[in-house]
Amino acid sequence: MLGAIAGDIIGSVYERNNIKSTEFPLFGENSRFTDDTVLTIAVAHAILDDLDYTGTLKLYGRKYPNAGYGGSFRNWIFSPSKEPYNSWGNGSAMRVSPIGWAFNTAGDVLREAEKSAAATHNHPEGIKGAQSVALAILMARQGEGKETIKQEIERRFNYDLNRSLSEIRPDYKFDVSCQGSVPESIIAFLESESFEDAVRLAISIGGDSDTIACIAGSIAEAFYKEIPPHITAEVKQRLPDNLWEIVERFDFAIKCNNHKSKTNREVLDQLFEAYLKTDYIVKDETINLTLRIDEKNSGLDDLLVKNESISAAFLTAYNPYSQSLSRAENEKRQEELVSILREKGYKFLYGYGESQTEDWTAEPSVLILGVDCQTALEIARQFEQNAFLFIEKSNAPKLISSR
Ligand SMILES: [Mg+2]
Repeated sequence: MLGAIAGDIIGSVYERNNIKSTEFPLFGENSRFTDDTVLTIAVAHAILDDLDYTGTLKLYGRKYPNAGYGGSFRNWIFSPSKEPYNSWGNGSAMRVSPIGWAFNTAGDVLREAEKSAAATHNHPEGIKGAQSVALAILMARQGEGKETIKQEIERRFNYDLNRSLSEIRPDYKFDVSCQGSVPESIIAFLESESFEDAVRLAISIGGDSDTIACIAGSIAEAFYKEIPPHITAEVKQRLPDNLWEIVERFDFAIKCNNHKSKTNREVLDQLFEAYLKTDYIVKDETINLTLRIDEKNSGLDDLLVKNESISAAFLTAYNPYSQSLSRAENEKRQEELVSILREKGYKFLYGYGESQTEDWTAEPSVLILGVDCQTALEIARQFEQNAFLFIEKSNAPKLISSR
Protein backbone atom coordinates (compact mmCIF):
# COMPACT_ATOMS: atom_id res chain seq x y z
CA MET A 1 0.00 0.00 0.00
CA LEU A 2 3.03 2.27 0.15
CA GLY A 3 2.74 2.48 -3.64
CA ALA A 4 -0.74 3.97 -3.29
CA ILE A 5 0.47 6.50 -0.72
CA ALA A 6 3.49 7.48 -2.82
CA GLY A 7 1.21 8.00 -5.84
CA ASP A 8 -1.14 10.15 -3.78
CA ILE A 9 1.63 12.35 -2.41
CA ILE A 10 3.38 12.72 -5.78
CA GLY A 11 0.06 13.49 -7.49
CA SER A 12 -1.18 15.86 -4.79
CA VAL A 13 0.18 19.01 -6.45
CA TYR A 14 -1.06 18.05 -9.93
CA GLU A 15 -4.73 17.48 -9.09
CA ARG A 16 -5.56 21.17 -9.35
CA ASN A 17 -2.77 21.92 -11.81
CA ASN A 18 -2.88 19.09 -14.31
CA ILE A 19 0.31 18.46 -16.19
CA LYS A 20 -0.06 16.53 -19.42
CA SER A 21 3.50 15.28 -19.37
CA THR A 22 5.68 12.72 -17.59
CA GLU A 23 8.39 15.32 -17.01
CA PHE A 24 7.91 16.87 -13.57
CA PRO A 25 9.57 16.83 -10.16
CA LEU A 26 8.30 13.94 -8.04
CA PHE A 27 8.35 15.83 -4.76
CA GLY A 28 8.27 19.48 -3.87
CA GLU A 29 7.55 21.52 -0.78
CA ASN A 30 3.79 21.38 -1.43
CA SER A 31 3.61 17.62 -1.96
CA ARG A 32 1.41 16.25 0.77
CA PHE A 33 -0.69 13.25 1.66
CA THR A 34 -4.41 13.60 0.93
CA ASP A 35 -7.64 11.67 1.49
CA ASP A 36 -6.34 8.75 -0.61
CA THR A 37 -3.58 8.12 1.93
CA VAL A 38 -5.71 8.66 5.03
CA LEU A 39 -8.39 6.24 3.87
CA THR A 40 -5.92 3.64 2.58
CA ILE A 41 -4.36 3.62 6.02
CA ALA A 42 -7.82 3.42 7.60
CA VAL A 43 -8.54 0.26 5.57
CA ALA A 44 -5.17 -1.22 6.57
CA HIS A 45 -5.89 -0.43 10.22
CA ALA A 46 -9.32 -2.07 9.99
CA ILE A 47 -7.73 -5.23 8.57
CA LEU A 48 -4.94 -5.28 11.16
CA ASP A 49 -7.19 -4.91 14.18
CA ASP A 50 -10.29 -6.54 12.72
CA LEU A 51 -12.32 -3.33 12.96
CA ASP A 52 -15.37 -2.54 10.88
CA TYR A 53 -14.77 -0.42 7.79
CA THR A 54 -17.57 2.05 8.42
CA GLY A 55 -16.42 3.00 11.90
CA THR A 56 -12.74 3.10 10.97
CA LEU A 57 -13.27 5.25 7.86
CA LYS A 58 -15.32 7.71 9.90
CA LEU A 59 -12.74 7.75 12.67
CA TYR A 60 -9.87 8.53 10.29
CA GLY A 61 -11.97 11.03 8.37
CA ARG A 62 -12.73 12.96 11.54
CA LYS A 63 -9.14 12.78 12.68
CA TYR A 64 -7.90 14.21 9.36
CA PRO A 65 -10.81 16.44 8.31
CA ASN A 66 -8.80 18.54 5.88
CA ALA A 67 -7.33 15.82 3.71
CA GLY A 68 -9.39 16.83 0.67
CA TYR A 69 -12.49 14.63 0.69
CA GLY A 70 -15.30 15.00 -1.78
CA GLY A 71 -18.40 16.78 -0.51
CA SER A 72 -20.60 13.69 -0.04
CA PHE A 73 -17.90 11.75 1.74
CA ARG A 74 -17.22 14.68 4.03
CA ASN A 75 -20.90 14.88 4.95
CA TRP A 76 -20.93 11.15 5.59
CA ILE A 77 -17.89 11.35 7.88
CA PHE A 78 -19.59 13.84 10.15
CA SER A 79 -23.11 12.47 9.95
CA PRO A 80 -24.35 10.08 12.63
CA SER A 81 -25.64 7.71 9.91
CA LYS A 82 -23.78 4.48 9.29
CA GLU A 83 -25.55 3.92 5.99
CA PRO A 84 -23.71 4.08 2.66
CA TYR A 85 -24.71 6.74 0.14
CA ASN A 86 -24.55 4.82 -3.15
CA SER A 87 -21.39 6.48 -4.40
CA TRP A 88 -19.72 5.47 -7.67
CA GLY A 89 -16.76 7.75 -6.98
CA ASN A 90 -13.18 6.52 -7.18
CA GLY A 91 -12.79 6.72 -3.39
CA SER A 92 -13.55 3.01 -3.13
CA ALA A 93 -10.69 2.17 -5.49
CA MET A 94 -8.15 4.58 -4.02
CA ARG A 95 -8.41 3.09 -0.52
CA VAL A 96 -8.60 -0.62 -1.41
CA SER A 97 -4.94 -1.56 -1.89
CA PRO A 98 -4.36 -3.14 1.57
CA ILE A 99 -6.98 -5.75 0.67
CA GLY A 100 -5.00 -6.90 -2.37
CA TRP A 101 -2.11 -7.61 -0.02
CA ALA A 102 -3.85 -9.02 3.02
CA PHE A 103 -5.94 -11.69 1.30
CA ASN A 104 -4.52 -14.50 -0.76
CA THR A 105 -7.24 -15.78 -3.07
CA ALA A 106 -9.32 -14.02 -5.71
CA GLY A 107 -12.51 -15.01 -3.88
CA ASP A 108 -11.37 -13.50 -0.60
CA VAL A 109 -10.01 -10.36 -2.24
CA LEU A 110 -13.22 -9.71 -4.19
CA ARG A 111 -15.44 -10.31 -1.18
CA GLU A 112 -13.40 -8.09 1.10
CA ALA A 113 -13.01 -5.36 -1.54
CA GLU A 114 -16.78 -5.27 -1.84
CA LYS A 115 -17.11 -5.00 1.92
CA SER A 116 -14.64 -2.11 2.14
CA ALA A 117 -16.35 -0.30 -0.74
CA ALA A 118 -19.90 -0.87 0.48
CA ALA A 119 -19.36 1.22 3.62
CA THR A 120 -19.98 4.22 1.36
CA HIS A 121 -19.67 3.21 -2.28
CA ASN A 122 -22.44 0.63 -2.58
CA HIS A 123 -23.22 1.60 -6.17
CA PRO A 124 -22.25 -1.27 -8.51
CA GLU A 125 -19.59 0.91 -10.18
CA GLY A 126 -18.13 1.83 -6.79
CA ILE A 127 -17.82 -1.84 -5.89
CA LYS A 128 -16.42 -2.77 -9.31
CA GLY A 129 -13.76 -0.08 -9.00
CA ALA A 130 -12.54 -1.41 -5.67
CA GLN A 131 -12.66 -5.05 -6.74
CA SER A 132 -10.77 -4.51 -9.99
CA VAL A 133 -7.88 -2.70 -8.29
CA ALA A 134 -7.63 -5.19 -5.43
CA LEU A 135 -7.68 -8.14 -7.81
CA ALA A 136 -5.02 -6.55 -10.03
CA ILE A 137 -2.83 -6.14 -6.94
CA LEU A 138 -3.33 -9.75 -5.88
CA MET A 139 -2.51 -11.04 -9.37
CA ALA A 140 0.51 -8.75 -9.71
CA ARG A 141 2.01 -9.76 -6.40
CA GLN A 142 1.43 -13.43 -7.15
CA GLY A 143 3.55 -13.06 -10.25
CA GLU A 144 0.99 -12.87 -13.06
CA GLY A 145 2.04 -11.04 -16.22
CA LYS A 146 0.46 -7.82 -17.47
CA GLU A 147 -1.44 -9.49 -20.32
CA THR A 148 -3.06 -11.98 -17.93
CA ILE A 149 -3.97 -9.22 -15.49
CA LYS A 150 -5.41 -7.10 -18.31
CA GLN A 151 -7.54 -9.91 -19.70
CA GLU A 152 -8.85 -10.97 -16.31
CA ILE A 153 -9.83 -7.39 -15.36
CA GLU A 154 -11.52 -6.87 -18.72
CA ARG A 155 -13.36 -10.17 -18.47
CA ARG A 156 -14.63 -9.67 -14.95
CA PHE A 157 -15.34 -5.95 -14.93
CA ASN A 158 -15.92 -5.10 -18.56
CA TYR A 159 -13.45 -2.20 -18.53
CA ASP A 160 -11.95 -1.19 -21.85
CA LEU A 161 -8.21 -1.51 -21.34
CA ASN A 162 -7.37 -1.50 -25.03
CA ARG A 163 -6.97 2.25 -25.24
CA SER A 164 -3.50 3.76 -25.00
CA LEU A 165 -2.56 6.70 -22.80
CA SER A 166 -1.60 8.71 -25.87
CA GLU A 167 -5.16 8.25 -27.12
CA ILE A 168 -6.67 9.09 -23.72
CA ARG A 169 -4.45 12.04 -22.80
CA PRO A 170 -5.53 14.82 -25.21
CA ASP A 171 -9.21 14.82 -24.22
CA TYR A 172 -9.07 13.41 -20.70
CA LYS A 173 -10.71 15.66 -18.12
CA PHE A 174 -11.30 15.62 -14.38
CA ASP A 175 -13.56 12.65 -13.65
CA VAL A 176 -13.98 11.29 -10.13
CA SER A 177 -16.17 8.33 -11.13
CA CYS A 178 -14.75 4.83 -10.84
CA GLN A 179 -15.74 4.06 -14.42
CA GLY A 180 -14.06 7.25 -15.64
CA SER A 181 -10.75 6.91 -13.78
CA VAL A 182 -10.07 3.34 -12.65
CA PRO A 183 -9.61 1.88 -16.18
CA GLU A 184 -7.29 4.81 -17.03
CA SER A 185 -5.26 4.14 -13.86
CA ILE A 186 -4.94 0.48 -14.75
CA ILE A 187 -3.83 1.39 -18.29
CA ALA A 188 -1.13 3.65 -16.80
CA PHE A 189 0.16 0.64 -14.87
CA LEU A 190 -0.04 -1.62 -17.93
CA GLU A 191 2.02 0.80 -20.04
CA SER A 192 4.65 1.41 -17.37
CA GLU A 193 8.18 0.10 -17.18
CA SER A 194 8.83 0.69 -13.48
CA PHE A 195 7.09 1.91 -10.34
CA GLU A 196 8.14 5.50 -10.92
CA ASP A 197 7.12 5.29 -14.57
CA ALA A 198 3.63 4.09 -13.60
CA VAL A 199 3.13 7.10 -11.32
CA ARG A 200 4.48 9.52 -13.93
CA LEU A 201 2.27 8.05 -16.66
CA ALA A 202 -0.78 8.18 -14.38
CA ILE A 203 -0.23 11.87 -13.65
CA SER A 204 0.49 12.64 -17.31
CA ILE A 205 -3.12 12.12 -18.41
CA GLY A 206 -4.43 14.84 -16.09
CA GLY A 207 -7.75 14.60 -14.25
CA ASP A 208 -7.89 13.47 -10.61
CA SER A 209 -4.11 13.11 -10.55
CA ASP A 210 -3.49 12.10 -6.96
CA THR A 211 -6.08 9.34 -7.10
CA ILE A 212 -5.09 8.05 -10.55
CA ALA A 213 -1.45 7.97 -9.41
CA CYS A 214 -2.51 6.33 -6.14
CA ILE A 215 -4.33 3.52 -7.97
CA ALA A 216 -1.66 3.02 -10.64
CA GLY A 217 1.03 3.14 -7.92
CA SER A 218 -0.76 0.56 -5.80
CA ILE A 219 -0.75 -1.99 -8.62
CA ALA A 220 2.76 -1.07 -9.76
CA GLU A 221 4.13 -1.67 -6.27
CA ALA A 222 2.76 -5.21 -6.32
CA PHE A 223 4.03 -5.85 -9.85
CA TYR A 224 7.54 -4.37 -9.64
CA LYS A 225 8.01 -5.60 -6.05
CA GLU A 226 10.05 -2.61 -5.05
CA ILE A 227 9.60 1.09 -4.55
CA PRO A 228 12.84 3.05 -4.98
CA PRO A 229 14.20 3.87 -1.50
CA HIS A 230 14.41 7.61 -2.27
CA ILE A 231 10.65 7.62 -2.90
CA THR A 232 9.95 5.71 0.31
CA ALA A 233 12.11 8.20 2.24
CA GLU A 234 10.21 11.20 0.81
CA VAL A 235 6.89 9.54 1.67
CA LYS A 236 7.91 8.71 5.23
CA GLN A 237 9.05 12.27 5.77
CA ARG A 238 5.58 13.54 4.82
CA LEU A 239 3.49 11.26 7.00
CA PRO A 240 2.71 11.85 10.67
CA ASP A 241 4.20 9.18 12.94
CA ASN A 242 0.86 7.55 13.75
CA LEU A 243 0.05 7.05 10.06
CA TRP A 244 3.53 5.75 9.28
CA GLU A 245 3.23 3.35 12.20
CA ILE A 246 0.21 1.67 10.55
CA VAL A 247 2.12 1.45 7.26
CA GLU A 248 4.94 -0.36 9.05
CA ARG A 249 2.67 -2.59 11.10
CA PHE A 250 0.78 -3.58 7.99
CA ASP A 251 4.00 -4.31 6.13
CA PHE A 252 5.19 -6.57 8.94
CA ALA A 253 1.85 -8.32 9.17
CA ILE A 254 1.59 -9.16 5.50
CA LYS A 255 5.21 -10.25 5.32
CA CYS A 256 4.64 -12.62 8.21
CA ASN A 257 1.31 -13.96 6.95
CA ASN A 258 1.61 -14.13 3.21
CA HIS A 259 4.27 -16.75 3.12
CA LYS A 260 2.31 -19.32 5.03
CA SER A 261 0.73 -20.58 1.86
CA LYS A 262 2.48 -22.71 -0.69
CA THR A 263 1.03 -20.73 -3.55
CA ASN A 264 2.89 -17.71 -2.36
CA ARG A 265 6.07 -19.60 -1.86
CA GLU A 266 5.94 -20.83 -5.41
CA VAL A 267 5.89 -17.34 -6.78
CA LEU A 268 8.81 -16.09 -4.75
CA ASP A 269 11.69 -15.02 -6.93
CA GLN A 270 14.23 -17.47 -8.15
CA LEU A 271 16.56 -16.16 -5.53
CA PHE A 272 14.56 -18.01 -2.96
CA GLU A 273 15.18 -21.35 -4.65
CA ALA A 274 18.44 -21.51 -2.72
CA TYR A 275 16.61 -21.14 0.57
CA LEU A 276 14.20 -23.90 -0.37
CA LYS A 277 17.02 -26.32 -1.13
CA THR A 278 18.71 -25.79 2.20
CA ASP A 279 18.92 -27.88 5.34
CA TYR A 280 18.82 -25.72 8.44
CA ILE A 281 20.84 -27.52 11.07
CA VAL A 282 20.81 -26.79 14.79
CA LYS A 283 23.55 -28.56 16.62
CA ASP A 284 25.18 -28.55 20.02
CA GLU A 285 26.05 -31.13 22.71
CA THR A 286 22.41 -31.81 23.48
CA ILE A 287 20.58 -31.33 20.22
CA ASN A 288 20.85 -32.15 16.55
CA LEU A 289 17.97 -30.98 14.37
CA THR A 290 17.65 -30.68 10.63
CA LEU A 291 14.91 -28.22 9.70
CA ARG A 292 13.43 -27.90 6.24
CA ILE A 293 10.95 -25.39 4.88
CA ASP A 294 7.39 -26.72 4.94
CA GLU A 295 8.32 -29.89 6.85
CA LYS A 296 7.07 -30.23 10.41
CA ASN A 297 9.75 -31.16 12.90
CA SER A 298 8.79 -32.82 16.19
CA GLY A 299 12.27 -32.38 17.67
CA LEU A 300 11.92 -28.64 17.22
CA ASP A 301 8.48 -28.68 18.81
CA ASP A 302 9.96 -30.50 21.83
CA LEU A 303 12.67 -27.85 22.03
CA LEU A 304 10.10 -25.04 21.95
CA VAL A 305 8.02 -26.70 24.66
CA LYS A 306 11.10 -27.24 26.82
CA ASN A 307 11.93 -23.55 26.51
CA GLU A 308 8.37 -22.39 27.01
CA SER A 309 8.45 -20.75 23.60
CA ILE A 310 5.74 -20.65 20.98
CA SER A 311 7.90 -19.53 18.09
CA ALA A 312 11.46 -19.31 16.82
CA ALA A 313 13.42 -17.91 13.91
CA PHE A 314 16.45 -19.28 12.09
CA LEU A 315 18.62 -16.66 10.53
CA THR A 316 22.13 -15.60 9.70
CA ALA A 317 24.05 -12.36 9.36
CA TYR A 318 26.25 -13.81 6.62
CA ASN A 319 26.36 -12.60 3.02
CA PRO A 320 23.98 -9.62 3.01
CA TYR A 321 21.41 -9.81 0.19
CA SER A 322 23.13 -13.00 -0.94
CA GLN A 323 26.37 -11.22 -1.83
CA SER A 324 29.42 -13.22 -0.79
CA LEU A 325 31.63 -11.43 1.70
CA SER A 326 35.01 -12.50 3.01
CA ARG A 327 35.09 -14.86 5.94
CA ALA A 328 36.38 -12.14 8.23
CA GLU A 329 33.61 -9.73 7.26
CA ASN A 330 30.97 -12.42 7.72
CA GLU A 331 32.31 -13.44 11.11
CA LYS A 332 32.21 -9.85 12.26
CA ARG A 333 28.58 -9.53 11.17
CA GLN A 334 27.66 -12.75 12.91
CA GLU A 335 29.33 -11.60 16.15
CA GLU A 336 27.29 -8.44 15.97
CA LEU A 337 24.10 -10.47 15.54
CA VAL A 338 24.96 -12.61 18.54
CA SER A 339 25.70 -9.60 20.72
CA ILE A 340 22.38 -8.01 19.75
CA LEU A 341 20.54 -11.19 20.70
CA ARG A 342 22.33 -11.26 24.07
CA GLU A 343 21.50 -7.61 24.61
CA LYS A 344 17.82 -8.26 23.89
CA GLY A 345 17.89 -11.27 26.21
CA TYR A 346 16.98 -13.94 23.66
CA LYS A 347 17.95 -17.53 24.15
CA PHE A 348 19.47 -18.93 20.98
CA LEU A 349 21.26 -21.98 19.65
CA TYR A 350 24.00 -22.11 17.05
CA GLY A 351 23.41 -23.76 13.73
CA TYR A 352 24.16 -23.49 10.07
CA GLY A 353 22.40 -23.55 6.76
CA GLU A 354 23.71 -26.13 4.34
CA SER A 355 22.78 -26.46 0.71
CA GLN A 356 21.22 -29.75 -0.30
CA THR A 357 22.78 -29.34 -3.72
CA GLU A 358 26.17 -28.14 -2.43
CA ASP A 359 26.51 -25.03 -4.54
CA TRP A 360 27.41 -22.87 -1.62
CA THR A 361 29.24 -23.36 1.65
CA ALA A 362 27.50 -23.66 4.99
CA GLU A 363 26.44 -20.36 6.59
CA PRO A 364 26.69 -20.17 10.38
CA SER A 365 23.27 -19.20 11.72
CA VAL A 366 21.29 -18.95 14.92
CA LEU A 367 17.98 -20.39 16.03
CA ILE A 368 16.41 -17.68 18.18
CA LEU A 369 13.86 -19.05 20.64
CA GLY A 370 10.75 -17.13 21.61
CA VAL A 371 11.18 -14.39 19.03
CA ASP A 372 8.03 -13.15 17.28
CA CYS A 373 7.82 -12.76 13.53
CA GLN A 374 7.96 -8.98 13.49
CA THR A 375 11.07 -8.82 15.67
CA ALA A 376 12.73 -11.53 13.58
CA LEU A 377 11.87 -9.56 10.45
CA GLU A 378 13.42 -6.43 11.94
CA ILE A 379 16.60 -8.31 12.79
CA ALA A 380 16.76 -9.93 9.33
CA ARG A 381 16.40 -6.50 7.74
CA GLN A 382 19.02 -5.01 10.02
CA PHE A 383 21.44 -7.67 8.77
CA GLU A 384 20.29 -7.24 5.16
CA GLN A 385 18.97 -10.73 4.64
CA ASN A 386 16.62 -11.64 1.78
CA ALA A 387 14.70 -14.10 3.90
CA PHE A 388 14.69 -16.15 7.06
CA LEU A 389 12.88 -19.12 8.57
CA PHE A 390 10.07 -18.57 11.01
CA ILE A 391 8.61 -21.41 13.05
CA GLU A 392 5.45 -21.45 15.11
CA LYS A 393 4.99 -24.33 17.53
CA SER A 394 3.29 -27.37 15.90
CA ASN A 395 3.80 -25.86 12.46
CA ALA A 396 6.28 -26.43 9.67
CA PRO A 397 9.04 -23.81 9.29
CA LYS A 398 8.12 -21.22 6.69
CA LEU A 399 10.21 -18.89 4.63
CA ILE A 400 9.60 -15.20 5.26
CA SER A 401 10.83 -12.65 2.79
CA SER A 402 12.52 -9.76 4.52
CA ARG A 403 12.98 -7.56 1.42
MG1 LIG B 1 -6.98 13.06 -2.97
